[in-house]
Amino acid sequence: MAEQQSDKKSPDVTSSEYQGTATMEKITSLAKRRGFVFQSSEIYGGQSGAWDYGPLGIELKNRIAGSWWKEMTQLQDDIVGLDSAILMHPRTWEASGHVENFTDPLVDCKKCKARFRSDMIPEADLAAKKCPECGGELTDIRKFNLMFKTQIGAAEDTASIIYLRPETAQGIYVNYKNIIQSNRMKIPFGIAQIGKAFRNEIVTKNFIFRTCEFEQMEMQFFVKPGTDDEWFDEWKKRRWAYYEKLGVKMDHLRWHQHGPDELAHYAKDAYDIQYLFPMGWRELEGIHNRTDYDLGRHTQYSGKDMQYIDQDNNNERYIPYIVETSAGLTRNVLMILCDSYDEEQVADKGNEDDWRTVLRFHPNLAPITVAVLPLMKKDGLAEMAQDIRRELKEDFATDYDQAGAIGRRYRRQDEAGTPFCITVDYQSKEDGTVTLRYRDSMEQVRVPKAELAAKLREEIKNYQRAK
Ligand code: ATP
Repeated sequence: MAEQQSDKKSPDVTSSEYQGTATMEKITSLAKRRGFVFQSSEIYGGQSGAWDYGPLGIELKNRIAGSWWKEMTQLQDDIVGLDSAILMHPRTWEASGHVENFTDPLVDCKKCKARFRSDMIPEADLAAKKCPECGGELTDIRKFNLMFKTQIGAAEDTASIIYLRPETAQGIYVNYKNIIQSNRMKIPFGIAQIGKAFRNEIVTKNFIFRTCEFEQMEMQFFVKPGTDDEWFDEWKKRRWAYYEKLGVKMDHLRWHQHGPDELAHYAKDAYDIQYLFPMGWRELEGIHNRTDYDLGRHTQYSGKDMQYIDQDNNNERYIPYIVETSAGLTRNVLMILCDSYDEEQVADKGNEDDWRTVLRFHPNLAPITVAVLPLMKKDGLAEMAQDIRRELKEDFATDYDQAGAIGRRYRRQDEAGTPFCITVDYQSKEDGTVTLRYRDSMEQVRVPKAELAAKLREEIKNYQRAK
């Protein structure tokens, strides 16, 4: 919850610890230029805190979501999926504690009208009630609830108040009994969900890092009290291993344990996986031992019995403890963009073509897996390339590009993160082979057309990140 803001006082410039070539400006500009992410409602001056995912962005986001979903459902024996509604009964948010506690501390400058989260401005300024921007006088600290409140139905009275969910977790808790009954789940088991969440964040900056509308990938694991510490450790291990498998730079990940001042009121223990973004170490995912708080509160507020009945153990009854793994999907998109970004000197001719920008996406995450490029448009090369693309597109995400010099086209694909390019040239017409060009090494090999699909599958399976 918003109370646990650990590292937000660090300035949002490129951190001295960060050694990569990415900056937030470069990532934002590349994302726009290549159609990953656009500012929402840009023609009206933009809507802060909201972003649109373009043709490459939606593919990347879907692949990250897909890889999480596979990891958390298909590869687990005891986790099932759910897609619950964004709009929930308002009592949900009283029970969860969000109406009362989901707040950020806010101050306004009386002079320049700037608004700040008080925990994000220098302590000396806060003590002197001095605006860090203009030196004007600051108001007292007020609590500001981060939930978006709106109305449902025609009547505009208090009975019609409804919230946009600030987390996906509560949709899981209120369905936990349904899922036990419909799917005959036995403790320990988990429920996974990916979906939109909304928070009225006071400060949204660093591109898609912190936004008002975002997506979460959450899994709630229901366990017997007393086994929760063990499961907490187990989920810490599994979530760390997941990022390793995803091919993320592991020296850019670290654990951060919540201290007593950061720990949410419901949590027994909490660790964040932090990633070293260009602006510094920031939370990517949280692993929380939420105890029996949530189900206990829903019992109290709904009047429904949320106890688990253990039929294998003399019908023993208890309120399960919950171990939660909660990751931002859109924050993971930013992480993968930063993690993959590279600039590389590839020639020494003294012009801008000496350098290339490359997104070193894992082939399983790349929006385009393979681009097919005819060396020339004429002499039947374009037709042959289009035939190859047609054959490959059933199994791979493909692109076709015949515009401009071949070197330029390779660079365009490098910048989009396409791991493989296939070039059709005059030799292809003679012997049926094509050039397969690797994004990372820029190495080129000749492959018979008929073997392309199998070759690509093998390359994807054996992919190792170069750097
Ligand atoms: P933060 O400290 O960054 O505000 P939090 O501790 O409030 O996050 P949680 O409530 O634990 O976050 O949410 C789980 C995950 O959801 C976070 O690890 C993050 O990846 C993502 N997330 C939370 N708030 C936002 C937001 N405003 N924009 C994008 N992603 C978010």
